[in-house]
Amino acid sequence: MKIGLFPGSFDPITNGHLDVILRAKELFDKLIVGVAVNDSKTSTSMFTVEERQKLLEEVCKGIPKVEILIFDGLLLEAMKKYKAVAVVRGLRAISDFEYEFQMAMMNREICNDYETVFLMASHSYSFVSSRMIKELVRFGGDVSPFVPPVVLEALKKHKHI
Ligand code: ADP
Repeated sequence: MKIGLFPGSFDPITNGHLDVILRAKELFDKLIVGVAVNDSKTSTSMFTVEERQKLLEEVCKGIPKVEILIFDGLLLEAMKKYKAVAVVRGLRAISDFEYEFQMAMMNREICNDYETVFLMASHSYSFVSSRMIKELVRFGGDVSPFVPPVVLEALKKHKHI
């Protein structure tokens, strides 16, 4: 059974993330989407990890082979724990590459078995990021083309709006 692990902050899940999930689940027998607790973006997060997990679950409800988990600590440890054969990461423009390359190579250095599968979302989502969504929402922008409907509702209810 080949398990893939797609880690991220998902604060909140966007259509870009969803696009990557739908592509990745075709490549594995099971895809674990892992909400990272100690992500470097935690200090600027809008939703709690539990809220992010819940939104992911609602969005991925009915998509076979996809499981949503919260994980704490090192990605390499999570990979071992869930017996994942590869980590899935999404690539937007060149800007993602530098960081992703460093992370993949660093993890490879620590663990020779570490594999990363990079996927590109549809070009219509290539500029979508959770950070941009949050900024747009704070200034009253319409984010409906970029997030699933349940996320749109959650954003509307959020105290920052
Ligand atoms: P963000 O960068 O939007 O805050 P995360 O930290 O949750 O997102 O990212 C998790 C993974 O999803 C990363 O590999 C990131 O590059 C990828 N990703 C996020 N948005 C997109 C997108 N629009 N297209 C492709 N990959 C994406």
